[in-house]
Amino acid sequence: MVAGLLFGSFLNVCIARLPEHRSVVTPRSHCLHCGHMLAWYDNVPVLSWLLLRGRCRNCGQPIGVRYPLVELATGLWFALGGHQLAVLVALPATAISTDHRVIGALDVLSFLIVGFLLIGLLVMDWETFLLPDAFTLTGTAIAAFVVCCQAIFTGTTEHQVLLPANSIHLNSAGAGRDAGNVFLTGPEAVVFGRLAAIVLVTVLLLAIRAAYRLVRRREGLGLGDVKLMAMMTAFLGLGPSLLALFVGVLLASGYGVVLLLRGRAGGATRLPLGSFLALGGLLAARFGTTVWNSYTAFLQ
Ligand SMILES: [Zn+2]
Repeated sequence: MVAGLLFGSFLNVCIARLPEHRSVVTPRSHCLHCGHMLAWYDNVPVLSWLLLRGRCRNCGQPIGVRYPLVELATGLWFALGGHQLAVLVALPATAISTDHRVIGALDVLSFLIVGFLLIGLLVMDWETFLLPDAFTLTGTAIAAFVVCCQAIFTGTTEHQVLLPANSIHLNSAGAGRDAGNVFLTGPEAVVFGRLAAIVLVTVLLLAIRAAYRLVRRREGLGLGDVKLMAMMTAFLGLGPSLLALFVGVLLASGYGVVLLLRGRAGGATRLPLGSFLALGGLLAARFGTTVWNSYTAFLQ
């Protein structure tokens, strides 16, 4: 939780500076109105904002409620991750192999990073309609790296599509050690499966984008949204990311309808779709695997 608050504080800096392509390292944190440099005691997550009642110590101009909210959200996200890690560590050695414990720990790491990035992207798209590559593309690369690390600890016979009981035994050259699975198994399934998912989602989103431009003759889906979805797929896998897309579009449509009914929007009003996709991604990261598993179990 404390680590999360500190990361949330850094995330606020990213949110304020990345869309403007400014460095997140220098200069140090300062008031946006008067440039007053913040002392450490004015830069304590959430607490300082409460103590200062949301105003700058020097000039008295308001400091956005976004700052404590982002810190709090990141803090809660890290608390969730910490809980997952505690559950994983507490599992007895008989219940889980060392390799799977490592894979699980990497899952938690992934969960923390994707939460940090999605909370940031949610706020940035809401405030500026921008989804910086520094988050989406870097995030995709980090996710790919974590998946490759997980593949190292994956056994060669895991992720078999066909169970040994009903597998086809091929007696061709080179098949001697394989149980007869016609699809990729083990580490290859982990890496290439995720890669295929990223390509699939990207192509799907690019197709929707092209179709929208063809029909409506204007931009509906930005390239940033496409990169955001690719990043989510890299972190979460195909099922949860499709769920995020579905939830995100649903929420954005709902928000659009509410704006229309209140007369606050017309046909050409721009919605921060990326914010809703990121929100869908956060929900999918937390609940996606559970929902996807029960859905696929329902299909069988
Ligand atoms: Zn000030």
